[in-house]
Amino acid sequence: MQVAQVIVDVPTRQTNNPYTYSIPENLNDQIQPGMRVQVPFGRRKVTGFVVELLTNSNYKGKLKSISKLIDLSPVITPELLKLSEWMADQTFSFKINCLQTMLPGGMRTKFKKKLLAADDIRDAYPTIFHGQNEIDYDQQHFNNQAVSQILRLKRTDKIKVHYELSNHAKPVLIKAYQNLLQPNQVDDLLKKIHPNATNQRQLLFILADQPDHPISTTNFKQKGVNGSTLKTAAKNGWLKEMTIRRVRNPFMQPVQKSHPLALNADQQTAVDQLDRAIEDQKNLTFLLEGVTGSGKTEVYLQAMAHALKNGKTALLLVPEITLTPQIVSRIRSRFGDQVAMLHSAMSSGERYDEWQRINNGQAKVVVGVRSAVFAPLTNIGLIIMDEEHDSSYKQDDVPRYQTRDVAKWRAKYNHCPVVLGSATPSLESRARAMKGVYKLLTLPHRFNHHALPHVTIVDMKKEFAHHQSILSQKLTDLVRDRLQKHEQIILLLNRRGYSSFVMCRDCGYVPQCPNCDVSLTMHKDTHTLNCHLCGHKEPIPTECPRCHSTRIRHFGVGSQQLEEQVKKLFPTARVLRMDVDTTRKKGAHEAIINQFGAHKADILLGTQMIAKGLDFPEVTLVGVLNADSALKFPDFRSSERTFQLLTQVSGRSGRANKQGEVVIQTFNPDHYAIQLAKTQDYEKFYQTEMRIRRLGKYPPYYFTVKITGSSPSERQTAYEMHQVANFLRQHLTKSAIVLGPTPKTITRVNNRYYYQIIIKYRYEPQLKSALEKLLEKSQLKQRQGLLVSIDNEPLDFM
Ligand code: ADP
Ligand code: ZN
Ligand code: ZN
Repeated sequence: MQVAQVIVDVPTRQTNNPYTYSIPENLNDQIQPGMRVQVPFGRRKVTGFVVELLTNSNYKGKLKSISKLIDLSPVITPELLKLSEWMADQTFSFKINCLQTMLPGGMRTKFKKKLLAADDIRDAYPTIFHGQNEIDYDQQHFNNQAVSQILRLKRTDKIKVHYELSNHAKPVLIKAYQNLLQPNQVDDLLKKIHPNATNQRQLLFILADQPDHPISTTNFKQKGVNGSTLKTAAKNGWLKEMTIRRVRNPFMQPVQKSHPLALNADQQTAVDQLDRAIEDQKNLTFLLEGVTGSGKTEVYLQAMAHALKNGKTALLLVPEITLTPQIVSRIRSRFGDQVAMLHSAMSSGERYDEWQRINNGQAKVVVGVRSAVFAPLTNIGLIIMDEEHDSSYKQDDVPRYQTRDVAKWRAKYNHCPVVLGSATPSLESRARAMKGVYKLLTLPHRFNHHALPHVTIVDMKKEFAHHQSILSQKLTDLVRDRLQKHEQIILLLNRRGYSSFVMCRDCGYVPQCPNCDVSLTMHKDTHTLNCHLCGHKEPIPTECPRCHSTRIRHFGVGSQQLEEQVKKLFPTARVLRMDVDTTRKKGAHEAIINQFGAHKADILLGTQMIAKGLDFPEVTLVGVLNADSALKFPDFRSSERTFQLLTQVSGRSGRANKQGEVVIQTFNPDHYAIQLAKTQDYEKFYQTEMRIRRLGKYPPYYFTVKITGSSPSERQTAYEMHQVANFLRQHLTKSAIVLGPTPKTITRVNNRYYYQIIIKYRYEPQLKSALEKLLEKSQLKQRQGLLVSIDNEPLDFM
C-alpha cells in the first residue's frame, strides 16, 4: 500500500517529523511529493505538505486518510524539499515554517472550499495553470464548474468576466448595425430572436460596435450597463460569458535591448573564471570585491549570459527594493522576457504570477530580494548575491535564515558557482576569502579609472558652536556651487529612526509608549505620536502632563524636516525625498529614481534607501548629515555598518567623468570607521576591525547563537532565562562562552519583557543537542506565557 508522509501545519516539536496518511483511491495516481494536501489532525482539518511517498508503512493500526489535494502539480521542487530539512535544522525552526516561507505570499492562504471531482479539474488544469497571457476558458470546452473551482483555488489569479455576442446574435446585430437601422427597427429585429430584448438594446449597440472583442463587466458598467442586464442577456442566449485570466506584468516600462560591453582587464579576468566554473559545474564560492563603480554589474550580466548559453538558469539576489529598479532594467535589457522579478514592492498577485513563470520553466533568470533565494528554478548554473554584506539578507523572523547560506546550499545541490559581490564585504566573507575557502576576485579601480570621490569630514561639535543648522557651512557652500553648475546632489539622513520626538522645554519630559520602552515618534501628517514597535498612537499633547508647561516642542530631524530646511535654504532647487513615507505607493520608488535619473530634480534626499547601488552619472556631491547615528548602538557590528554605509553612499558621487565630492558630518570625526571610510580603505578597515573582533571574541573568530526569552512579567522572564543559562552552562563544554541573561536594549515591547543570552564558541559538539533539549523544555512553559527563540548567527546582539 502506498502512503504519504505529510508535514502538517501545526508548528510544534512533535509534528516536526512527518505524519503518515493513507491515500484515497482516486488520488493515487495524482499525488506527488511537493503538493499540498488537507488532512485530518485531531478533531481539526489542517493543511500540510507531502514530503515523501512510501510503499510500505511501518505504522501499526489504522491510518487516517488524506481529505483532499490542494495542488494539482507540485509547488515545492524536490530540491526545495531537501533544503527545507537542512534549513529547519540550521535555524532551529519547524519544517512547516520553512516550507511555507518558500511559497510566495499569496499562496500561503488556506483553502476552505470543497474540491470538485478530480478528473474534471485535471483536464482543465494544465492549460489554465501553464497558460499563455490570456485564455478563453470557454473555448477550451472545459467543465465550467471545474474551471471556476480552479480559479477559486488559484485565488491570486486575476480573473475578469467578459461578454461577447453569442454566435446566433452576432450576424443579426452586425447586419442591423451596418445597415444603420433605426432603433425601432433594431427592436423589431431583436424581438424576432427574443421577445424581451428591448431593454437590452443599448447593450447590443455597445457590442455591435466591436463585435470581435469580448468586453469586460467593468467596461460595460462604465457605459451604464449593469450586471443583471448582462446576466439576463447571457441567459437568453444573446451573450456568451467568458473568463479571461491576465498575467500581471510587474515591469512598469519597456526597456531597450542592450548588448554586452567590452570588458576591461579586471572584469575579463573575473568573467573568465566564472565562465570556467559554470562550464565545469564547479561548486566554488567567489568573493567579487570591487570598489563602487568598478563595473561589478557588467561582470554579473556576462556570467549570467554564459550560464544561459550553457542551457542553465541564473539567480541574482539584490538587497531590498533599493537596487531593484535600476538593476532590473539593466538585466531585462540584456535578457528580455526570460527575466522574472521577485521583490516586496510588488503586489502579491504580481509575485504569484512571476513565481508561476519560474515554476513552469518560462523564466530562466530570476532577480529578486531575500526570499527569491527560494525561487523554484531548476538546473541553476549561477547564483549571484550582490551587496552580500547587506543586513536585509538575514531574515529577522522565523525561520531566521541567512540568505548567503541558503544560496551556498543551493549552489552545492546544483553543482554551480556562487558569487558574493560587494565593495565592502562582510568580515565573515573576507576572512573566508583570506583563508582560501572562497576564491577572491578583485576589481580594484573604478571603471575607466574615474577617480574615487574626494571626502571631507566636518566635525559637528565645532560646527554647532557657531552655526546651528543641520547643514554645515561647508556642505551648504558646496550644494550652492553644484546647483549653479547644474550638477546633482544626494543628501543622506542616516536611519529612519532618527526622526523627531516631543520634549517639554521646561522639565525635559519625553512622551513614552505605554507598552514599550521607547519614546514616541512625531508624525506630522497624522498629527500623532506613534510607537514604531507596537503601533500605539496618541494625539500630540499641547501641554506637558508632568509640569503643565505649554512649551512642548519637537526635536530631532526627520527627512520631512530636512526637506523643509533644504527648500528654505535653496528655494529654487528642485528637491525629491525618498523614504518609507514617500515610497509607500506602488511604483513610487521607481518613479523617484527615474525622475532623478532624468535630471528633473537637483537634490535627492532620504534615508538609507538612497545609499546603495544607484548609478546616477550627474551626481557630483554627496552629503551625509549624521554619519555616526549607527555608532551609538551597543552592537559589535556598528563600526562595520557605519563603514559600509559611508563607503556605499560616497560611491554614489562622481561615477562618470566629473570628479565627485563627499561631505561627512559627524560628532566623532576621529572614529576609525569614519576616518577609513574617508579614504575608502577597505583593506585597513578589515585589518583594524579583525583585531577588535579577535580581542572581543566576536565573529568571524567565534560563532554565535542568540537566545531570546520573553513573557508578560519581567521577574518571570529573568528567572526563566537564568534557568536557561544554567542549563546551557551545564550542557555545553567548557570552551563555549555563555553570556547573560541580560535585558535587551529595549526590554519591554508590547508589554512583554525581553532578555537574551549569547553563546560564543569555536567548536562545540554539544551545541545542537543542548539547544534541541532547550526548545523541548521551553515548549512546556509556553502555557505560562514564556516564549523562547533561537537565532543562529544573529546579525546583532541588541
Ligand atoms: P558597481 O556595481 O561595481 O558599483 P557598475 O556596474 O554600476 O559598478 O558600473 C559603474 C559604471 O561603469 C556604470 O555606469 C557602467 O555602465 C559602467 N561600466 C561598467 N563596466 C563597463 C564596461 N565594460 N564598458 C563600459 N562601461 C562600463
Ligand atoms: Zn514639563
Ligand atoms: Zn509601543
